[in-house]
Amino acid sequence: MKIMKEITDEFIKVSVEKCYKQIRETNEELDRLRDLCPHNEVKKEDYMWAPGHIVNNASICQICGKVISTEEGMYWQDYIIKEGDEYDN
Ligand SMILES: [Zn+2]
Repeated sequence: MKIMKEITDEFIKVSVEKCYKQIRETNEELDRLRDLCPHNEVKKEDYMWAPGHIVNNASICQICGKVISTEEGMYWQDYIIKEGDEYDN
């Protein structure tokens, strides 16, 4: 016999928090594994860091999936926002 849990706001809130905790822990584990990886197999590939935002010829480790560098040697966080740039956020 299947036991049905009552769907309450509290149940949803607790479940969402549990999901975010799992995402955080998984990202921490990915970071840990990527720190351990010697990145012995790096290949140039196009990399989409956000929907519609593609960097050509990024160096990506084929073992752990880490983006080692982009063609310009920069990560997206390093791009400088210039005066007059427009963003749709
Ligand atoms: Zn690696």
